[in-house]
Amino acid sequence: MTGLEFNARVKQIPVYPAASTYAFDGELVKLASNETPFSPHPQVLEAVEAQLRTLNRYPDPAKSALRRRLSDRTGVPDGRIAIGNGSCELLLAGAEAMLEPGAEVIYAWPSFSIYPHLAAMSGARAVTVPLDDAGAHDLEAMAREVTAATRMLIVCNPNNPTATGLPPAAIDDFVGALPRSVAVILDEAYVEFSALQDPDESLALLDKHPNLIVLRTFSKVYGLCGLRVGYALGSEEFRLAVDRVRQPFSVNALAQAAAAEALNHQDEVERRVEQTVIERVHVESELEERGLETTESQANFSWVSLGERDEDELVDGLAKQGVIVRAGGALGQEGWMRVTYGTRHENDRFLAALDQLL
Ligand code: PMP
Repeated sequence: MTGLEFNARVKQIPVYPAASTYAFDGELVKLASNETPFSPHPQVLEAVEAQLRTLNRYPDPAKSALRRRLSDRTGVPDGRIAIGNGSCELLLAGAEAMLEPGAEVIYAWPSFSIYPHLAAMSGARAVTVPLDDAGAHDLEAMAREVTAATRMLIVCNPNNPTATGLPPAAIDDFVGALPRSVAVILDEAYVEFSALQDPDESLALLDKHPNLIVLRTFSKVYGLCGLRVGYALGSEEFRLAVDRVRQPFSVNALAQAAAAEALNHQDEVERRVEQTVIERVHVESELEERGLETTESQANFSWVSLGERDEDELVDGLAKQGVIVRAGGALGQEGWMRVTYGTRHENDRFLAALDQLL
């Protein structure tokens, strides 16, 4: 013990359940963090390299070039686009700007593991609403929890960790019936993988609902999680508030350049989505053949019911064979595991390792 004193809130903040890396003598198959197996596009790498010589300068605090590119692509004015050091930064900064003791934040559970931090760090009250039996958001139940104290409501679509998705029409009706004082954060980290919608369909909702904030990331289909870039499309007010509570240079120059270039390669995004869907069908049907049920995935991972099997034994058994997946318990629901789709070779390594244990 050092004798250092920490504030009372720190004790309330859960430790983020990062996937463990495993000392394994051989090729490690990482299917635990919903990353993509595709390395960055060569022109994205070139854009990063071109920035290397300017690293003696601070990055653009306004992220102007990237915001302009995003505005061109989405049709949302750049004043309404906030860029973050990963979309996680925008969630945390949004909480810092909107939540405080006495305020409430509503989200479904299980959902993305960073959400519990938002109430804990701000002293607000977290109201969690169980997912339905199919592992999907129960929007009616969530709407019933809204009170005069509700400042923020989060819908993760598709949901991490259960992989389920909702169509934009359902979100549209839901947001339309909520008070406009509630900031609705629609976390679309995996939206490109959803068969229920075109990603552009959610953008149309922004014009109808001024309290809607669509959160997206370059960490998933764009494959840039190592650089940390995400963005929020919403109101100018939200962007300005987020910018006030965080440090000015939070998104580094390499990340800004890489993200702007990545947007030029939508054909590559489509190719990745196609590949992922092929692997989704493969993994799901192979799991089914082994008697393992999954929820209906709209993402780049499966949420797998383990029935009576011991989840830790199974996940540790896979790790001992060099295949890293996530146990459901750490993500909010025991008796399940989450497995990200990798390359065909990686997915077959996972399935072969599973066969050793079943
Ligand atoms: N939202 C969801 C639902 C996620 O699963 C993740 C990544 N695990 C994020 C946001 C955060 O992504 P990033 O901070 O890398 O943009």
